[in-house]
Amino acid sequence: MNQERSKELFQEAVELMPGGVNSPVRAFNSVNMDPIYMEEGKGSKIYDVDGNEYIDYVLSWGPLILGHAHEQVVNTLQKVMAKGTSFGANVEYENKLAQLLIDRVPSIEMVRMVNSGTEATMSALRLARGFTGRDKILKFEGNYHGHGDSLLIKAGSGVATLGLPDSPGVPASIAKNTITVPYNDQESVKYAFEQYGDDIAAVIVEPVSGNMGVVPPVNDFLSFLRDVTNEHGSLLIFDEVMTGFRVGYNCAQGHFDVTPDLTCLGKVIGGGLPVGAYGGRRDIMEKIAPVGDIYQAGTLSGNPLAMAAGYETLSQLTEESYEDINRKADRLIEGYNQAAVEHGVPLQVNRAGSMLGFFFTDQEVINFETAQSSDLEWFAKYYRSMAEQGIFLPPSQFEGVFLSTAHTDEDIEKTIEAVKKAFESYSK
Ligand code: PMP
Repeated sequence: MNQERSKELFQEAVELMPGGVNSPVRAFNSVNMDPIYMEEGKGSKIYDVDGNEYIDYVLSWGPLILGHAHEQVVNTLQKVMAKGTSFGANVEYENKLAQLLIDRVPSIEMVRMVNSGTEATMSALRLARGFTGRDKILKFEGNYHGHGDSLLIKAGSGVATLGLPDSPGVPASIAKNTITVPYNDQESVKYAFEQYGDDIAAVIVEPVSGNMGVVPPVNDFLSFLRDVTNEHGSLLIFDEVMTGFRVGYNCAQGHFDVTPDLTCLGKVIGGGLPVGAYGGRRDIMEKIAPVGDIYQAGTLSGNPLAMAAGYETLSQLTEESYEDINRKADRLIEGYNQAAVEHGVPLQVNRAGSMLGFFFTDQEVINFETAQSSDLEWFAKYYRSMAEQGIFLPPSQFEGVFLSTAHTDEDIEKTIEAVKKAFESYSK
């Protein structure tokens, strides 16, 4: 596959931006490849600057649940854009998207729009601390909640990919207020509450972890968290930036029937434009300025283009859309499993809806420690083979694979053929 233009652009970029990228995992370090420069997307396909076509399972790291350049989304954006890109004043689309989120997300009675998932989680933590008058938060190893200081501790995603568990630059005085325990480990959570119970403002959790690869909750972990936070007067925050409107029509909280106090959203709710949101109980949300005294603001928050893209995207999704994507996910998983058995590749498959985790290990993956038992060298080799065959996957073992409504049965079969071919070279 010719990737000359990508190579040239990357050589330029490394002189211009740290690592040549604006977000670390895009550097493809862990798969020993140069990054691929993309130019165009349509449906399930993405095209690089050298004209190569790929079936895309990255989908901009989750947002593009309808695939690339969905006709209705693009048409709406064109109409909205022609009238101006930002006003710094209220627009009707803010109400429309807010109402839709309130209708679909069980915990959300009121919502505030921001510009990224990071902003959503940072703001939700401030709100939880302000509301409870407590400083400590509890998070889980391998969960990633964006790059806010309090949350960049034993984090997943690029932090895990690059092996940087605790980032320099996060003051010790802030880090001391973040308690981290293993995901899915009820005993550790109980112990933390015994030690610090009355000081814990909130537990923040990815209801399905997607940033150490995909790791669903086991043994009613989420309802356990609901009970323990209720018992201690702490808030429960679901970070649904990745799972929101991906795991199901009513997000992960609808799927697992556990209602948190606050919810953070991003990715799908922006339909490919920069959007985040946090929302939840009315009595908590009304502590935010200008009603309450907990401050949070944004020049571009509620931007008309972003609101329109999000609203149009979510409006296209029905319960049936999820059934259809899940059916395709079932078939893809079946293909991976068959190829693994055929070629003796150790494979664990985790999934929640159309969020898939393929781990190359014999161990069941239930937390960050077991995710780390994956064979990363083999992952890199498999990754390069898939890319060479026109399958674009997230370039890290610690990221989820996503499907969209635009993926066809033919895409899935082609992908399975590529997996078989990639697996042929296992241990050779
Ligand atoms: N929370 C979760 C669960 C995420 O997956 C991410 C990003 N992958 C974030 C927060 C941060 O979102 P953003 O990159 O938009 O700041």
